Amino acid sequence: MGMEQKLREKLGKEIKHSSNEEIYDALLDCVQEMAEEKVSQKGKKKIYYVSAEFLIGKLLSNNMINLGIYGEVKELLKENGKNIGEIEELEEEPSLGNGGLGRLAACFLDSIATLGYSGAGIGLNYHLGLFQQVFEHKLQKETKNPWIQTKSWLKKTDVTYPVKFRDFTLTSRMYEIAVTGYNNRTNLLLLFDVDTVDEDMVGEGIQFDKEDIQKNLTLFLYPDDSDEQGRKLRIYQQYFMVSNAAHLILDECTQKGSNLYDLSDYAVIQINDTHPTMIIPELIRLLTERGLEMDDAIEVVKKTCAYTNHTILAEALEKWPIHYLKEVVPQLMPIIEVLDDKVRRMYGDESVAIIDRNNLVHMAHIDIHYGFSVNGVAALHTEILKNSELNNFYRIYPEKFNNKTNGITFRRWLLYCNPKLAESLTDWIGDGFYKDAMELKKLEAFAQDEKVLQRLLSIKKENKLQLKAYLKETQGLELNEDSIFDIQVKRLHEYKRQQMNALYVIYKYLQIKKGEIPKTPITVVFGAKAAPAYTIAKDIIHLILCLQEVINSDPQVNPYLNVVMVENYNVTLAEKLIPACDISEQISLASKEASGTGNMKFMLNGAVTLGTEDGANVEIHQFVGDDNIYIFGASSDQVIGHYERADYVSRDYYENNDMIHEVVDFITSPQMQKVGSEEHLNRLREELLGKDWFMSFLDLEDYIEKKELAFADYADQDGWAKKMLYNISNAGFFSSDRTIEEYNRDIWKLC
Ligand SMILES: *Cc1c(COP(=O)(O)O)cnc(C)c1O
Repeated sequence: MGMEQKLREKLGKEIKHSSNEEIYDALLDCVQEMAEEKVSQKGKKKIYYVSAEFLIGKLLSNNMINLGIYGEVKELLKENGKNIGEIEELEEEPSLGNGGLGRLAACFLDSIATLGYSGAGIGLNYHLGLFQQVFEHKLQKETKNPWIQTKSWLKKTDVTYPVKFRDFTLTSRMYEIAVTGYNNRTNLLLLFDVDTVDEDMVGEGIQFDKEDIQKNLTLFLYPDDSDEQGRKLRIYQQYFMVSNAAHLILDECTQKGSNLYDLSDYAVIQINDTHPTMIIPELIRLLTERGLEMDDAIEVVKKTCAYTNHTILAEALEKWPIHYLKEVVPQLMPIIEVLDDKVRRMYGDESVAIIDRNNLVHMAHIDIHYGFSVNGVAALHTEILKNSELNNFYRIYPEKFNNKTNGITFRRWLLYCNPKLAESLTDWIGDGFYKDAMELKKLEAFAQDEKVLQRLLSIKKENKLQLKAYLKETQGLELNEDSIFDIQVKRLHEYKRQQMNALYVIYKYLQIKKGEIPKTPITVVFGAKAAPAYTIAKDIIHLILCLQEVINSDPQVNPYLNVVMVENYNVTLAEKLIPACDISEQISLASKEASGTGNMKFMLNGAVTLGTEDGANVEIHQFVGDDNIYIFGASSDQVIGHYERADYVSRDYYENNDMIHEVVDFITSPQMQKVGSEEHLNRLREELLGKDWFMSFLDLEDYIEKKELAFADYADQDGWAKKMLYNISNAGFFSSDRTIEEYNRDIWKLC
């Protein structure tokens, strides 16, 4: 049956007589049915990707692309006077992730299905998601984000499990979201929930009673953990997630014929960061309940679980106080004690113990000792894990450590978000790159082809115009499409150094005031949510919003320099910002960004990276060569050296460098005080002068120099188009299909 007939049947009337809402609902039904036909249980062994976050983005168009009906539906709608863009707008973006880690999980699900592997994602169904960001008085305010619509991709199932906590037992409920692969099978994302959750208990902003677990368990992703109740709620959530996962996995495997001793022939569990770590003791507990001896259970689990490390920031490596665990999940403590005891006997080394002297349980240590694989997410990151951060473990288990450089799905981040580029690429090099991303390399043969270079530039311009219209319409923001789009969008964190970019903006503003007019106008775009309790991050947002007002309203400057901060940066915005970008800001302090995936999305869409030798930037640099990237700043070794010697003193830079002195003082200048809050601006300036833990002054001069060079190079449009071309043609390695094939080859070993 053709799509036209299908859609008309669902609608019960002509497409042209239907509302956008009716068409959205009908399309959702059609897509869900088509996806379900491709759900398959094929394959003895299955990968279970357990993650607290799945930042999947809107699903309608992506699913239609993967099912091969997007073009047809788009045309059909057009013929009937409808616009697919308007219909896409009706879908709320599922708010199930923070940033890179959750987006990675989503890209992986796409690639696992696309490559035809048997797999499932397992997580939680947060009703109000991560908070929604709104700006009020140039400050971030958090509100709830109720993303579940009456008609949604979530399918309620009859699967329920009892999950036992110390003081009560909750009954879970499983929901499914179909994950379509590109021209291949459909897998499932399984999200656990409780029927008793009560969205009405949320008051002002994102405030709620953190102790009423039955009602609040699946309200929010990462409830504020600045107090004890918030931290305990996270443990409730984590245990709820993994207990359900463990039950489900054991049930599925026994149904397929496992005798549990051979569990690892049927299942491999990828633990995405430490949030799902309790699945290890929980599986051991359930296996012993089902008759295995403790030692056997431990061996079985060890062969089944693999751990991905996502960060070397100390504050992100979870350590839970024993007394929290005893209060929430006392049944796990005896097992964790056995695990700790075995490690202590074996190695007699306090630094690799699971329970430390302060009675903190180190979650990552459980994963490393009791999983069979530990992977980092970019080459540099894995080297840092092996050589410094986790060196004591690497010396015990060298064979467990391996690298899996992150990737992104090209279906969403090229075919869907940049159809004009995808179409032109298809004209030039055929459609082989849809499935084999390395074929993008064929584009290099066109590096001297004037028509191709001109087309790359015109596509960029068209994407800028589209972004301009969208941001005007949705956020009332103004963009100058004739300016260079210099974009930094990612979570707000001091290590990512949005503050350094803001200091550049101040520098440039002062230069223009002094009469130094740039050749091409510049628009610096920011987008970032800050964690609700992260004071300095919120101060940085305030700084940027103040700069936006000061600069954009200064007629002497605004023809040449604009600052734009988009509100509530999410996947939907990313899909519109990235294809319009000229310069991709990837400026983390070297050694701090494990990989980054934003950097890959920008590269694929023809932006040129301005970045430090950090995370996957290192590999991007190797692929594109020195001429097609702007690299600056201290190396990771130099940065690690500064931390070891504790010899970075930000105030010295301020005292000894006139430029730094001037830009830092501008933060609290009368001009800024007039539009902003003295409290926030002063606190930020003091933080930079008194601590600056992520060394924004260390690289500032080099950063400014390279950024100026990039802006100057941009004036040679032909040369710039070549840089774009080399970025696109070398992006193939960063397909998540490649990443997943490596996970499978080295870790999962599915068929
Ligand atoms: C890709 C992506 C990220 C990760 O960006 P990084 O620059 O790698 O930190 C964060 N948020 C969204 C919405 C994304 O799409």
